[in-house]
Amino acid sequence: MTVEANMVVTLNYKLSNHKTGEKIEETTAENPMVFLFGVGGIIPEFEDNIQGKKVGDTFDFAIVSESAYGEKSAEQIVKIPTSVFNDESGKFNEEHIFVGAMVPMSDNEGNHLRGTVLAVTDEHVEMDFNHPLAGTDLNFKGEIVEIRPATQEEIDHGHVHGLHGHQH
Ligand SMILES: [Zn+2]
Repeated sequence: MTVEANMVVTLNYKLSNHKTGEKIEETTAENPMVFLFGVGGIIPEFEDNIQGKKVGDTFDFAIVSESAYGEKSAEQIVKIPTSVFNDESGKFNEEHIFVGAMVPMSDNEGNHLRGTVLAVTDEHVEMDFNHPLAGTDLNFKGEIVEIRPATQEEIDHGHVHGLHGHQH
């Protein structure tokens, strides 16, 4: 079996910053990455690089930032009135809102976003809503661990069921 559409692929990888070599994240044997190939849940170029591989095959490739999480955009850095972060009594939420904090927020349409606090002044909290990996060239190095055909139900749902998959 090879990595292709409608296959459930289990793999381990180490993700590093391609320019600096700094490790960003790494899967483990107990907690590998398991996904349904070809449904668009992950970076397309990642799939391109492992398509056709077999169990035991290794990979080591880079994806430039434009093809991964994009460039950092100045439009994603916004100033929010400090009062938005006040509690009912009008006291600023300094426990959770401080420089460097990652804060879960939602936009006008109810989409969940995470922002990183860049600065706090009396008037504004400046937040960066860029993806944490925006502007970063990625390097993936790893090995294909398992390949199996997806069940019809998994194909219908567009995701993997069972261990490491959706539990429902
Ligand atoms: Zn499902």
